[in-house]
Amino acid sequence: MHGLKNIKTLKEFEFQDKTVFLRLDLNVPMENGQISDETRLLAALPTIEFLRQKGAKIVMASHLGRPKSAEDKEFSLEPVAQKLSEYLKAEVLLLDEPEGHTLKHLLMTLRKNQFLLLENVRFIPGETKDSQEFAEELAPYFDFYVNDAFGASHRAHATIHALPKLMKNRCIGLLIEKEIKFLDQLLDNPKRPYWAILGGAKVSDKIAVIEKLLDLVDGFVIGGAMAYTFLKAMGHNVGNSLVENDKLRYANEMVERIKARNKSLLLPVDHLITKSLKDTSNLKTTSDVNIPEGYLGVDIGPKTISQFQSALLSAETIFWNGPMGVFENPEMSKGTFAIAKILAESKGLKIVGGGDSAAAAEASGYADQMTHISTGGGASLEYLQGEPLPGLEVLRYKHGR
Ligand code: AMP
Repeated sequence: MHGLKNIKTLKEFEFQDKTVFLRLDLNVPMENGQISDETRLLAALPTIEFLRQKGAKIVMASHLGRPKSAEDKEFSLEPVAQKLSEYLKAEVLLLDEPEGHTLKHLLMTLRKNQFLLLENVRFIPGETKDSQEFAEELAPYFDFYVNDAFGASHRAHATIHALPKLMKNRCIGLLIEKEIKFLDQLLDNPKRPYWAILGGAKVSDKIAVIEKLLDLVDGFVIGGAMAYTFLKAMGHNVGNSLVENDKLRYANEMVERIKARNKSLLLPVDHLITKSLKDTSNLKTTSDVNIPEGYLGVDIGPKTISQFQSALLSAETIFWNGPMGVFENPEMSKGTFAIAKILAESKGLKIVGGGDSAAAAEASGYADQMTHISTGGGASLEYLQGEPLPGLEVLRYKHGR
């Protein structure tokens, strides 16, 4: 199920003096107590601004990381509250325990231009259990539920699923609306030629999306560690490269199915190799597709880059998910950044899946030249695979409710 059928948007409601539970994805990467990448926080601002201008009383909520308990203070949203307060030029009160009494009191005394932010909802054990009890505790305080946490919408957690289930007035925010609009362009009558560029560590993570895209795309470009499983399955030497041996048969079948449908499959024809990921003193490029014993592939090589570039030149639609190599290491980032450059120069629609691909696009310096970079890694893949996202499904109105 995809699309926004029977899901309401912000523009369909009046929010003046209404109390809104706004679920956001403020799950920003942190380093030493500081936010190291503000992308998700910035992506949340338009909906907050929209609701503020419409006169709503706003209570924001988000998770951050995977805390084991409320004692895990490194997962506090405190730095996020501070940053939001700077961007919104307003007071953002962090509410330690979203327990009834305090919430009620704060809501009554909330002044114009003040916001409430619930402390990390994963500090509450009921959150990840989709607890009905936790949802019932929260629901009575709100007139509206708004989900704008795209990156968490594939999880049936209490503030994503159990809570909106109880709410009559529920809708998506501007970020989810945008995410779905772009992702749907990859699914509904995409312009051709349409290429999917897949990379990253594992074939197994991408199997479902390959299956789904098989019917839609004109060709696949496969790089990153996942390419070695395909190359090994085809009988090439991959040395010590990362391979999923239990997926060799699947890889072979996939190659056959892609061929049978007259679609293209481009795999690396040369590689950057090293003896070990830790010691890069012996990095070198292979002359062909084979990787000598004792070496592992860590990036695509120059011939591969130019082949990929020629194929993608005329593309009208490109979906990119997964780096072409160990891009976190600058010496092994050339292939991934070259892909980012190819996309930047393409006139077509170019959509980047979230997670590592978003980080890679950002690190390449070409992020602003992509049509859309999803804020949700897992969520965007599940959506493209055709999986129902619990956080979206629960918002659909059925028979008027
Ligand atoms: P994924 O989350 O599946 O998109 O995988 C991303 C990770 O794959 C990144 O951390 C990369 O460093 C890693 N990766 C990409 N290419 C390789 C490779 N050739 N060998 C080992 N790891 C790789």
